[in-house]
Amino acid sequence: MRVGLGQDSHRFLNESLEKKFIIGGVVIADAPGLDADSDGDVVLHAICNAITSLTGVPILGGIAQEMCKSGITDSAEYLKEAVKTLRDGHITHVALSVEAKRPRLEKYIPAIRASVAKLLGLEVSQIGMTCTSGDGLTDFGRGEGLQCFCIVSLVDVEK
Ligand SMILES: [Zn+2]
Repeated sequence: MRVGLGQDSHRFLNESLEKKFIIGGVVIADAPGLDADSDGDVVLHAICNAITSLTGVPILGGIAQEMCKSGITDSAEYLKEAVKTLRDGHITHVALSVEAKRPRLEKYIPAIRASVAKLLGLEVSQIGMTCTSGDGLTDFGRGEGLQCFCIVSLVDVEK
């Protein structure tokens, strides 16, 4: 068994811009979009980085960057490519920790867990998520953007 660790963060765009706010593949109406060439999905990006920490294959700075240049901004597509790099590794659990003052994510946790589970082909029980405002001590806790940490647990299945 092995574990991977990933992190990602993005700043909110100006409220007047029309970009949708997406987290864990879920569109949430009550927040502005995030400043990124892609959709800025911090949860899916953190999972991609955790997978890179297991495989050594660059996703966000590599495969996803190339996909983004060709116009693919949906981070779910990046995650699909990341999962392929795991080869015979099977994910057993994904733990997510999000720091954000806004939007209030508590009520969206079930939808985000279900979405991430579906994208990874896992059960909802295999996705854990917490969120915190961090007591306003950081830019994330002051509502300027979001940060996500992710731990991916994996077992290598021998053929
Ligand atoms: Zn990102």
